[in-house]
Amino acid sequence: MSKKKRDPSLPPPADPLPSPVTDAHTHLAMTAEFASVPVAELVESARRVGVCRIVDVGTEVADCRTAVAHASEFPAVIATVALHPNDAARAGAELDGYLAEIAQLAQCPQVRAIGETGLDFYRTKDPEGQETQYRVFAWHIELAKRLGLPLMIHERDAHYETLQVLDAEGAPAKVMMHCFSGDAAFARECAGRGYWLSFPGNITYPANEYLREALDTVPLGQLLVETDAPFLTPAPYRGRPNAAHLIPLTVRFIAQRRGLELGELCRILHNNATSYFGEW
Ligand SMILES: [Zn+2]
Ligand SMILES: [Zn+2]
Repeated sequence: MSKKKRDPSLPPPADPLPSPVTDAHTHLAMTAEFASVPVAELVESARRVGVCRIVDVGTEVADCRTAVAHASEFPAVIATVALHPNDAARAGAELDGYLAEIAQLAQCPQVRAIGETGLDFYRTKDPEGQETQYRVFAWHIELAKRLGLPLMIHERDAHYETLQVLDAEGAPAKVMMHCFSGDAAFARECAGRGYWLSFPGNITYPANEYLREALDTVPLGQLLVETDAPFLTPAPYRGRPNAAHLIPLTVRFIAQRRGLELGELCRILHNNATSYFGEW
């Protein structure tokens, strides 16, 4: 922990992008609460810098319901629903009830993917909790296939365990690794399976050279960008709340790293989001 007191204020919007992009994974309600800014303002301030589409990700039942409500209210927003692996591990006797509600919400037309689901052995270390994560992950894979929806993976400290589950259960047609956290070898494994790899602002942190090496290997047609706001704020605002209006910082960083013209990268990222989520 830094001794410096954290600045809780939302950083100002980044310079606008020359062409629209999509924030492929964010948490609007959490960001609004964290940064004390209304959701409508977050959506509008994102639009002004070129972030014309936002994917609002639910992590537990109430939050999924809110994401669906945001998608109904704002044309720029679509929703995804799932019980986050760490919430699944803590659900106890409520688990089956939660899953029944997720299955119902997943049928709303605003819901365009199932996620975030997967394995998180970083936050959940007890064997019983991990066992629950395995079971709930398989359940979400089945749900995505049954509804014909893409699957959005959350995975931390469980790279190859996650691939094993996907291989064993049979992955849906479209899989995205949100907040990609592996190295170049793991990126090749994922890309080789046809998955989309999504990078947030932590790609800009000095210590994360392994993420930049992973980024270097990703086929351009499988690359996505996200904020995972309010977390993982890109440099130079690390430590302050994140929001979709900061994604241009990450996009510019990726353009430079991959040696691409900024407008060209924006168009690639935007088209990739359409390939994965469909049009909106
Ligand atoms: Zn996540
Ligand atoms: Zn997330």
